[in-house]
Amino acid sequence: MKCSRCGSDAVIFYPQSRQALCTEHLQEYLLRKVTRAIRRFKMLERGEKVLVAVSGGKDSLLLWYLLKELGHTVEGVHINLGLGDYSKLSEEVSRRFAERIGCRLQVIGVEEDYGINIVGTSRRLHRPPCSVCGTVKRYVLNKAAVESGSVLATGHNLDDEAATLMGNILSWNLEQLRRASPALPSNHPKLARRIKPLIYITEKESATFCLARGIEYVLPECPYSLAARLAVVKDALARVEDKSPGTLLNFVDSFYRKRPEFLRSISFWPSLLFP
Ligand SMILES: [Zn+2]
Repeated sequence: MKCSRCGSDAVIFYPQSRQALCTEHLQEYLLRKVTRAIRRFKMLERGEKVLVAVSGGKDSLLLWYLLKELGHTVEGVHINLGLGDYSKLSEEVSRRFAERIGCRLQVIGVEEDYGINIVGTSRRLHRPPCSVCGTVKRYVLNKAAVESGSVLATGHNLDDEAATLMGNILSWNLEQLRRASPALPSNHPKLARRIKPLIYITEKESATFCLARGIEYVLPECPYSLAARLAVVKDALARVEDKSPGTLLNFVDSFYRKRPEFLRSISFWPSLLFP
């Protein structure tokens, strides 16, 4: 298969537009998608510093790479969660990538720097390791961003955003539907702004590009990860997308466009929507 733009070997095919793209043109397309998301949701202002939460997975590395390509002032922060070989490998992969693109990476160890043992804490609190891990990550990342005066960027992609949205619809979590945003403002000096610039990029595009560009990444298989409901929803949506390409983009994009109208139409329930 040849690239529809330049005729060199293609790495991805878009059935909906019958276009194939090579690595260079896929990169150009992904850069346009990130630029569009940044503008559409007013994620960044000129010259603002960005701190990317780097897990070592494909999406966070792609995000770091694309923001650097776009000329943003960007650094990475990696949290070593102290979960054995998985954490060691994630840190190594993140460090190697930082070196490759010539960016500074701050590494924070939850055990060394905070004295927290995720598994031990989860046993003591009778909570699953994933929930302890999520709380610790949010706290540490926010602190790192506030201290460096940066906006915190995370690698959530279109598939993640669609699954979260669908999860909130399945439970009609109106409060979450009202507040959800790919660009969360800061309403306190100790709370960093949070952005998700990959919101228009699919899981497939992310994986394909990393493979084509030779970006080495770890699979998000944490040894303690639960077979969460969100993973089931994500899987189901991936099958819909496979049969009907473009569905996820339309789903997420339309949600943010039509939400004001939707909220107005159900505002007869004011105590829930405007507490
Ligand atoms: Zn091309």
